[in-house]
Amino acid sequence: MSHTKYHRVLLKISGEGLCRPQGFGIDGEQLHRIAGELKTVVDTGVQLALVVGGGNFIRGTELARTSHIPPATGHYMGMLGTVINALAIQETLEQIGLVTRVQSAIAVDRVCEKFIRRRALRHLEKGRVVILAGGTGNPFVTTDCCAALRGTELGADIIMKATKVDGVYSADPKKDPSATRYTTISFDEAIGRNLQVMDATAFALCRDQKLPIRVFSIVKPGALKRIVLGEDEGTLVHV
Ligand code: UDP
Repeated sequence: MSHTKYHRVLLKISGEGLCRPQGFGIDGEQLHRIAGELKTVVDTGVQLALVVGGGNFIRGTELARTSHIPPATGHYMGMLGTVINALAIQETLEQIGLVTRVQSAIAVDRVCEKFIRRRALRHLEKGRVVILAGGTGNPFVTTDCCAALRGTELGADIIMKATKVDGVYSADPKKDPSATRYTTISFDEAIGRNLQVMDATAFALCRDQKLPIRVFSIVKPGALKRIVLGEDEGTLVHV
């Protein structure tokens, strides 16, 4: 075990991290790569709760805009997509020797547990990776909100938001080559500068709860572990 900066972390992984760039569904190679990164962190002794997105399958808002499916149904379909991702991550993590439990906010009794806070805490204390599926169980929000809520109620020290960009930039680095990355930024400054760190509702919740967020690149090997060990990576959003 290494000396870690955090005792318990909540990691949010978007569905797009599980498929090929601009792809759909699940890609085995991406899953194995992410699982390997997660293992290095769990091996440090840190307690890990994972919130998985579902954007590699369905985003309710998009589906409703482009089809006859009513928004609420689209959102429920999106939540079910996160359950599929959670099962894929579970199997991949267990193949490399981690012990995991999937808990879903939407009951899918045949395949996973329901989200029960005290039970999730017990799993974490035993060193199991808790994979949180089904988002919040409510439509019209995103899995970022789930990360903020669960991070708060499970007493995580930090929310780690895995993205394809290595932090929060002053402008979109793909469009503006002069954009610079913040190493740290306060919640108020991020709001003042209109920077999109995560879903606005989730962001407000983290700010109210004084729960810091670290935005980092899931594509960069070793970044996750370096953060857990207290090294500088990505952007820290602080109170
Ligand atoms: N969703 C929802 N309630 C939640 C979480 C998710 O309705 O608490 C739906 C919503 O339609 C969302 C989709 O599930 O677009 C997939 O989640 P998200 O967009 O957060 O996935 P990500 O972009 O992180 O892969």
